[in-house]
Amino acid sequence: MTWKRSLPILALILIAAVLFLRPGERPFEERRAFLMGTAVLVRAQADEAVLDETMALLRDLDRSLSAHSESSEIGRANGKSGTEVSLSPRTARLLERALLWAERTGGAFDPTLRPLTRLWLGDGLEHEPPSPEAVAEALRHVGWSRVRLDGKKLLLEPAMGLDLGGIAKGYGADEAVSLLRHKGVSSALVDLGGNIVVIGERPGGGPWRIGIQDPRKPRGERLGIVEVRDRSVVSSGNYERFLLWQGERYGHIVDPATGFPARSDLEGVTVLSESSLDGDALATALFVLGRERALALTEDLERDGYAFILVGADRRIDLSPSLTGLFRLEAEEYRLETGR
Ligand code: AMP
Ligand code: MG
Repeated sequence: MTWKRSLPILALILIAAVLFLRPGERPFEERRAFLMGTAVLVRAQADEAVLDETMALLRDLDRSLSAHSESSEIGRANGKSGTEVSLSPRTARLLERALLWAERTGGAFDPTLRPLTRLWLGDGLEHEPPSPEAVAEALRHVGWSRVRLDGKKLLLEPAMGLDLGGIAKGYGADEAVSLLRHKGVSSALVDLGGNIVVIGERPGGGPWRIGIQDPRKPRGERLGIVEVRDRSVVSSGNYERFLLWQGERYGHIVDPATGFPARSDLEGVTVLSESSLDGDALATALFVLGRERALALTEDLERDGYAFILVGADRRIDLSPSLTGLFRLEAEEYRLETGR
């Protein structure tokens, strides 16, 4: 057979190959970056251009939401406390959700902690902790219920400031996933420093297997694995980031009731939910609340489809009943409590 004559056959084979290529057989592309103060990973069965667009979206969110930068939208709003400012519709909606979670968690989640997080985390993670007087003074300017938000118009009292760090990664993960879905992606994993959202099933089929960090072990050592499809998995804990001073660890999650890093009897909180924004706010709040008050809140939320893995300092893990069979404990020192 000559080349000329075999060309139509080759073309037919190619067309057939394209027609029979199942979505599961498309290669996964990956992007990594350091954004929102954390390691970002996007892995998706998508074109390079779609991944680039997703990373651009996350970079844009980082630029507008960072409380540390004076030039971000949040930084500028904080700089103008005492006068009314106009927020972008996106940031206004995010702040509205943040205030809603502040209310639902009795203020354990508070998006107005900037005066305190500035003192505790400042520009670095190794400095002298603030004095109790400085903490008390900063605490006077914290309080989610004093934020005036009317549509896009925001009014903060003088010296007040927003810190959306407890919710921004979850929001970013949701936005990234919504872009990927919009582009027709049916299998992906978006990880913003422990705020993970998955689309569909993992490469090769079956649920995605998400490793849960053992709060007491070096990064990467697992407590167990949870299996998920189309869901967000968010983990919070003071093992993530802390200020180290003279051997003492001061965690990055602040208790709005005291102004000091939360002294929780929980070491790690994982929330499974549809929306990563909601999971993010909740994970931070439940950590602050501690086991007893957290459990009082989770029962209601479980009825709405949320699920929880609460890791106690006493090595007891409270697991939502719906996770039985989906969560596999690997670390032997812990014991599971599911009898609720
Ligand atoms: P996450 O990693 O989601 O638990 O959020 C922790 C980050 O949120 C901190 O680095 C602060 O920027 C901010 N934050 C700390 N404590 C709280 C709190 N109680 N409520 C809301 N945001 C907080
Ligand atoms: Mg959070």
